[in-house]
Parts: sequence; structure tokens; C-alpha cells
Amino acid sequence: RKISERHDKVFATGCMNPEEAAKQPRANAAFVVLARNKELEGVIQSIKSIERHFNRWFHYPYVFLNDGEFEQDFKDTITNYTSAPVEFGKIDNTMWGYPDWVDHEVAREGIRKQGDAAIMYGGMESYHHMCRFYSGFFYKHELLQKYEWYWRLEPEIKYFCDITYDPFIEMARANKTYGFTIAVKELKETVPNIFRYASAYKRKHNIKSKGLWEMFVEPQPEKQDSGDDKRAKTLPNEILQTEPGHQNIEDIDPENMEGEKYNMCHFWSNFEIARLDWFRSREYEEFFDMMDKSGGFWMERWGDAPIHSLAAGALLAPRDIHYFRDFGYRHTTIQHCPANAPARQLPHIPWYEKTTEDEKERKEEDDYWAMPDPPKENGVGCRCR
Ligand code: GDP
Ligand code: MN
Repeated sequence: RKISERHDKVFATGCMNPEEAAKQPRANAAFVVLARNKELEGVIQSIKSIERHFNRWFHYPYVFLNDGEFEQDFKDTITNYTSAPVEFGKIDNTMWGYPDWVDHEVAREGIRKQGDAAIMYGGMESYHHMCRFYSGFFYKHELLQKYEWYWRLEPEIKYFCDITYDPFIEMARANKTYGFTIAVKELKETVPNIFRYASAYKRKHNIKSKGLWEMFVEPQPEKQDSGDDKRAKTLPNEILQTEPGHQNIEDIDPENMEGEKYNMCHFWSNFEIARLDWFRSREYEEFFDMMDKSGGFWMERWGDAPIHSLAAGALLAPRDIHYFRDFGYRHTTIQHCPANAPARQLPHIPWYEKTTEDEKERKEEDDYWAMPDPPKENGVGCRCR
């Protein structure tokens, strides 16, 4: 097999001709934007940026979603900033808010406590609902049913570089499932028990790592009983109002996650390009359902980013993931700048080192990565500014 089949590499070096690329057929894909009316200004900024750097050539449609109704002014304004098709949808209470198997009062109390503990967004009920929606529901929304791929867009983001090829088409061609541009560490106090449950899911379904799980495991687990382990061994199950079974971790997983510890790494999900059918798969659904039934979306403040990431860790292989190292991207204070990312950057994460056993392939691989980096102006990214 060729190296390119095994390794994730940049899809394009420097600038392509976007007008040529745009003559090719489109993927079955859309931008997905969850937003509130009051975020109009931030959404305009994001649309301007993605239109200028990409969508003025490619005209991919937008799907706007909201748990409330979009105001007419919001809709009219947005449609003025793009010539691409735009749809606006409402999220109903089957996808947002407390399901009936949850005791609302216990959940509210849990959220209140997180607020008192000054956990980032911990005391904000709507933020918990948003994270759960993006973890287990957006891909089931009726407006997304017709799509195979999505590109997540948030208010107040910025693209720095021109994107002069179609990333959906390249993802499909390279047989990729999930694409990211920034990976960061999660705030520990938002997810004290998330890894315990994700790990239990793996064992319950007898899932063997395909090489990506290791990305999320602390290489040298600290000694047991360091301060961290004072955390609860399980999430309180009073949150479960009715029957859907005990979800105490001891019942699911008697071994209770000996040995492995989450390193807090996750793909930053405010940017994502991914296949919807992966989220719609039985495996992902089972994963989400188990995480959901633990109550962690309320009793802790599990983000959709670590949820997507740990699901990828359990279910996908390194070759299924694409790192968009050529996308200049910024959200709030964190950014990715392609000028710092040579085309053949070797990430220092274990799964890259484990991808082959074959000696000859291994050498070929090492030689390839050992080649000097191209000069910056020939690196990845196009007209970054
Ligand atoms: P942060 O990026 O983690 O600081 O969180 P944001 O406030 O940007 O929220 C993430 C995404 O969810 C953004 O697209 C927001 O517009 C959206 N969002 C957050 N809370 C709500 C909500 O209550 N209703 C709606 N409709 N969208 C929300
Ligand atoms: Mn945001």
C-alpha cells in the first residue's frame, strides 16, 4: 500500500484554482449553524469570513438551527450575506431540554451546584442542553436528513486563509470520517467521570482500539489516589426518573476502569467537517445513549467536543481522521495558524508511531517524515492574512 493510503496528509499545498475546483460536482453537504437571535452580529462575522475564503466559489447551503424561533429580521439579514441556499429550522423538545426519564429537579440542582463551584458554563442550563443536542441529536434533525456531510460553523469565528479546494470531496476521496483543525485540553472539572463511562462503553461492547483511543489516554498515569480520585466513583442515579435501567458504573463495568486515565485531549468541535452517517450509526447511537443515561450531561457539564472525540477514539482509526492543518481558523482566544504548520508535520502522538509493523514500510515512512520542511511560503495554507 502507498503511504498516502495509510497516513493523513494535507489535501492541498499552497493555492489551487478555486474556480476550477468549483466546476466539479458538489458533495451532498451543508454548513450547520446553531444560534440564537441575539447572536446575529457574531453569525454575520462568521458568514462573511467563510463566504470570502471559501463559499463564494462553492455555494454550499446553510442550515440554521435554534431551540427558539428565528426572528424574521435574523433570517432576512443572514440571507443577504450569501447567495447560497439557506434553511432555518426549529429544534423541538425531543432534541432539546430534559427528556422525561430525567428528574428535572435533580438535574437543576446538579446544575446549580456546578454554578456555585464556578465551573465554566456549569451553572447555565441552556449550555447543558446545547452540549447534549450537539452530542446526540443535531444529525437527526429533519433539515439535515438529506445530507451526507456537514461543516459546523459558529458565531464569532474567523478563517484566515483561502480554502481553494472542496474539503468534502477530498474527505470522501480519502475515505475520511471526521476532520478537525484544533485539538486542546478540556477543563477537568467539567468532565470528572466522562472517561470512566466512555471506557466502560468500550469494554461493555468488547471494542478493541483501532489505534485512535491511545490519543486520549494519559501516557503515564499518575499514582492512584492523587487528589483527583476523591471524585465520585459513579454519577448519582437519582437523576433517573423511571426504568431505563441502572447506569451505575459498577453495574455496567465491574472492572471500573483500572489503569487508564483521560488526558483531557479533544478535537475542538466548534469546527468540524464530518460524515453524518457515522453519527447515525448504531455504534455511535449506543455510545451516546450510554453516556446520556449516566446523567453526565446534567450532573457534570460534558461538552460535545469530548463526547465526539471519545466516540471517535472508541470507534474510529487514525486513518479515518483528517487534520485540516492548512485551515487558518480562530474562535475566541484559540487559533490555528497554518504558517506554523509545514505540510509534513509529524504529530507527536502515539497512534502515528503505531500504524505499521512492517519494517520496510516503517523505513519508507521514517525517511518521508525526515525530509526537510518546505520553506514557509511553500507550506500549507493559501493567501493567509
Ligand atoms: P462556546 O463556544 O463553548 O463558548 O459556546 P457558545 O456560546 O459559542 O455556544 C456554542 C454554540 O451553540 C454556538 O453556535 C451558539 O450559538 C450555540 N448555542 C449555545 N447556547 C444556545 C442556546 O441556548 N440556544 C441556541 N439556539 N444556540 C445556542
Ligand atoms: Mn462559541
